[in-house]
Amino acid sequence: MTQQGGLAVLGTILVVEDEVKLSSILRDYLMRAGYSVATLVRGDEVLEWLETHSADLMLLDLMLPGMDGVEVCRQVRKSSELPIIMLTARVDEADRLVGLELGADDYICKPFSPREVVARVKAVLRRTERSALSNRPLTRGPLRLFPTQFRVEVNKEELHLTPSEFGLLKAFMGSPERVFTRSDLLNMVQGYQYEGYDRTIDSHIKNLRRKFADVLPGVQVVEAVYGVGYRMSREICGAV
Ligand code: CA
Repeated sequence: MTQQGGLAVLGTILVVEDEVKLSSILRDYLMRAGYSVATLVRGDEVLEWLETHSADLMLLDLMLPGMDGVEVCRQVRKSSELPIIMLTARVDEADRLVGLELGADDYICKPFSPREVVARVKAVLRRTERSALSNRPLTRGPLRLFPTQFRVEVNKEELHLTPSEFGLLKAFMGSPERVFTRSDLLNMVQGYQYEGYDRTIDSHIKNLRRKFADVLPGVQVVEAVYGVGYRMSREICGAV
């Protein structure tokens, strides 16, 4: 958070809009809502601006001089996950703008009320902050797990796991104190089960242990709790 005129600033919004009047209305509303605002009028100024400034979100008009909003979005996405809300008068185009094809986070159709824009800005920022949080790596001793990248590292070396093994390890690392029953673990890996249902939790655990034995010889990563199930070993947790 930075300070602006004595008020705490929630973040910086870059408004790229060539209708000057509209741009200044948006600026006023966003500033009143507590954001710091930068404005640009040309699409081809955006990339250069982003090289020397930082923003927390961009409101990007579709029809712009220099470079249109679609191309600006595409270019920015090559190197940045900056949240982008497209502003468009072309309702029929709107759906195409969001999602995988272009990578914009949301769109707003013109005409819109500035109040609606502020609400959308808040919603997108909340959502993107949450997803950044959910991808925060889990670290236990020498293990590091990146939840949304399906990546596990042991002492900074990547360890290749199947989706089910990954799901199990994520459960253990997320709650290192907890003893999981086999049926808990079956539920946990449901979303990761691509290998068929014939394999039991025990065989996944066995494979997980075998993979860890190769990279952490002599270290027990998952321990059995007799009559109950499995948990992360004290040996690994104690190393935190
Ligand atoms: Ca325009």
